[in-house]
Order: sequence, then structure tokens, then C-alpha cells
Amino acid sequence: MAPEMIDLASGERRRVCIDCGEPFAPSPAFRDAALPPPGRCPECAARRRDEHNQRLLEVHATGAARAAVKRLPGPDNGTGQLSSARCSGCGRDIRLPFSPRADRPVFCRDCWSTRNGM
Ligand SMILES: [Zn+2]
Ligand SMILES: [Zn+2]
Repeated sequence: MAPEMIDLASGERRRVCIDCGEPFAPSPAFRDAALPPPGRCPECAARRRDEHNQRLLEVHATGAARAAVKRLPGPDNGTGQLSSARCSGCGRDIRLPFSPRADRPVFCRDCWSTRNGM
């Protein structure tokens, strides 16, 4: 908790910035809202915010944030793994990147090419 003092001239409550040591008056918003009073003057608070943003940007640039983001489950089986299926054309086992539907025929690469005239 930052030290608090009363400005004798104006009767204003003042706080001493924990960063630069300069007295400052907390903005009325902090008194009205149930927020804890700031420990830093507006200048130091802004500087800290900038430093924080800068760190975030650096994290983004290195890809660390991307790596930390959890992979969202896909629309199909959600595991990102291949599903086993049987080709409706030649009957051989094939692997699909999605869960095949029972009412839809699936084809291996060869049968698919043949069916599409390739
Ligand atoms: Zn300050
Ligand atoms: Zn086939």
C-alpha cells in the first residue's frame, strides 16, 4: 500500500508514487469505484502499461504465445488423428482425416481418381 498524505494547502488526499516518489492525486474514478487506489502516478502507470504491452508484443513475435494457445478441437473427431475406414470401391482399409459417416461412401485415392475420371 502506497503511503498517503493530505495536501495541507488544498486538503486533497495525495499519494506518493511507488515508482518515482512524486506525490499525485488519485483520479476521482478510483474514489468513486470500489477500485484499490493506484500506487503509481499516472505517468508511471502509463509507462508500466507500455512496458507490459511491449512484452506482450515480444512474446507474440517469438511465437511463444501461439505455442501456448491450446489447440481448439476440430469440427469432426476433435483429435486431429486419422480415422480408419473402408473404401466403398475396392474395400481396402484407408485413413481419413475426418470421421466417415455411415451413410456416405468413402473412397481410397485410387477409386476417387477413377470415379472423378482422373
Ligand atoms: Zn511516478
Ligand atoms: Zn478403393
